[in-house]
Amino acid sequence: MSAVKPIREIRINPTLPSESVLVATERGLRPRKEEERVPRDAREHVEDCPFCRGNEERTPPTILALPNERDWQVRIVHNLYPVLGTDNRQPDYSFGLQQALEGYGHHEVIIDHGRHGIGIHEMSESHLTLVLQTYQQRMDTLYAADERISYVLVFKNFGRAAGASIGHTHSQLIALPVIPENVYNEVAHSRDYYDEHRQCIFCSLIDEALTFEGTIYNPESGELRRRIDIGQYVVERGERFIAIKPFASRYEWEVHILPLVHQSDYLQASAEDLADLARVLGRTMARLDKVLGGAQYNYYFHTAPRCEMFADCDPSYHWHLEICPRTSIPSGFELGSGLFVTTISPEDAAARLREAL
Ligand SMILES: [Zn+2]
Ligand SMILES: [Zn+2]
Ligand SMILES: [Zn+2]
Repeated sequence: MSAVKPIREIRINPTLPSESVLVATERGLRPRKEEERVPRDAREHVEDCPFCRGNEERTPPTILALPNERDWQVRIVHNLYPVLGTDNRQPDYSFGLQQALEGYGHHEVIIDHGRHGIGIHEMSESHLTLVLQTYQQRMDTLYAADERISYVLVFKNFGRAAGASIGHTHSQLIALPVIPENVYNEVAHSRDYYDEHRQCIFCSLIDEALTFEGTIYNPESGELRRRIDIGQYVVERGERFIAIKPFASRYEWEVHILPLVHQSDYLQASAEDLADLARVLGRTMARLDKVLGGAQYNYYFHTAPRCEMFADCDPSYHWHLEICPRTSIPSGFELGSGLFVTTISPEDAAARLREAL
């Protein structure tokens, strides 16, 4: 823990200015309830788990298996309880001010590994690369096969606190006919930023993270208020990817991973890119797991959507992976205001993550 004096400030998220976070590091200022730490189910094999190797007949049929169905390392199946479907059970309707659209889409489960309770940080780099390739391959196929789809969201819930209902390690994919609001806002804002500055805001943030050093003075007295070493936000760096602790993020231990060289779409990532991403992701997860004593988290990809409206977002949008460890339950203040409270400063969090390995 650093000896700097407590921070109490509202920070604006530069990539989503409508979102801000209250950083209040003074002890006792804890409106959030700590999430219960449930020990992880680390079992190798569970007899009645449908996702464990050998129990393949208990899941819906295989959609895709890599490297092949018999010796699968990663396997995609339909979700047994899909939140969206293509069978058009209920058409659009409206009455008065109320409006409902058909819940059209695809919902699939990606079984990340044959071993039941393995963590991302425990998977080999080659296996993790295969997982990342599977995400990419399936996204590509869905966009090509179904022109109603505007966005494929790939995400992972790990641990009960993160909403995972099955103990076996898995990710999910939801293909939607609309662009989810969070993605929409990010893509729209980065395009506005590009129109004004002719620069990708994410590339600028990476540049700042790697090079910038800033000093803040008190405008009246001229007294030194704070020195910011922007490099302090870097958690992990690979050859092609960087993991950053955002200056303003809703979750205390949130980390974002971005390609160092501009790419708008996850589907543009090459095999070499994915191998480096696997390394950076594995090490970042190992850091989080160590610092948090077993991380329960959500992660999800933000990438360029498929639609006319954003057909020009290639120079302005920059795909990334957001990792949100769940360490506390949002309070009424946070839900009511949208202003999330962080009781550990992002600078401290980044330092502790850097020191972890
Ligand atoms: Zn299992
Ligand atoms: Zn960029
Ligand atoms: Zn994002």
